[in-house]
Amino acid sequence: MRHEITAETRLVGPVTRLYRRYFKPEDPHGWADYHCVEEPEGTLWVHTHGLRRWRLPDLEFVDVPPDMLGYAHQMLFEIVAHAKARLPLAAESDIEGVFSAPVQSFHQLATLRWAPREDPDHRESLRIVDWGHPVESGFPRRLFVSHIAAWADLAEDPARKEALCRRALAMFPGCFLEMGAGADIKPGRADLTDLQHRANLSVYLSLAQALFDQDRPGEATGYLEEAIARCPGWGQTYRDYLVRKYRRKDAFMNFWRDAEIMEICARRRPANTSGPLPRPKAKAAAARKPKTRGKRKTA
Ligand SMILES: [Zn+2]
Repeated sequence: MRHEITAETRLVGPVTRLYRRYFKPEDPHGWADYHCVEEPEGTLWVHTHGLRRWRLPDLEFVDVPPDMLGYAHQMLFEIVAHAKARLPLAAESDIEGVFSAPVQSFHQLATLRWAPREDPDHRESLRIVDWGHPVESGFPRRLFVSHIAAWADLAEDPARKEALCRRALAMFPGCFLEMGAGADIKPGRADLTDLQHRANLSVYLSLAQALFDQDRPGEATGYLEEAIARCPGWGQTYRDYLVRKYRRKDAFMNFWRDAEIMEICARRRPANTSGPLPRPKAKAAAARKPKTRGKRKTA
């Protein structure tokens, strides 16, 4: 699809872009032209021109909801910066990285596919889709939801955090994973990449925190139950970790102390999807330890 290039199509004009390229060489705004074109359905096609200068392919998002436009630009900047620094981008390959916040408890995943475009201005672009998805899948909602999750985690204003999480859940509520999902994580320094990508775990945790912070504990524990129902193995491991680590008696800890993982799964998971939980590894390891070592540890 060819398109007119107007002030509305371009993120910035050529003068601003050149200024940034020469005087702010670290700013991805200056590395390419970023176009945004409305699609017939009212969604947006956000894409680059000029990345070949850096030996990179041009990139695109399609079917972007209008309220995601700012995030689409942010994601493009970060993926381009990541690629320019160290990541070769090739068609039909996956990308993984920290694209949203300096500190995230998960990596983001996506796949690059050849964009089916014939016109000479946009030929040989790569479309960014969700990890492992085909080119027709269009808008990478899990990638964008993980971007929102990273921002929600950082947001200090609980009302803002809540709004971000609710928008993310509207796009992708997360799947109900197998019963053992997340059982092997180390809660103190967890890598939530898999649980975020498949179950949207980080969004449920941030939303619960935002609601606790607004003195709405009933709603908050409902979303903690949603997180547990999606990742029961994680719920079991995380509960054991919290109960071992904290003595305080606030609504958050009271919830976890009383949480019956199987009972929550029976109420919240789709029918016939709740099998047995894996045996907690910590307990199994503790049982194998010599008794004297265990006693010294608890003394
Ligand atoms: Zn264009």
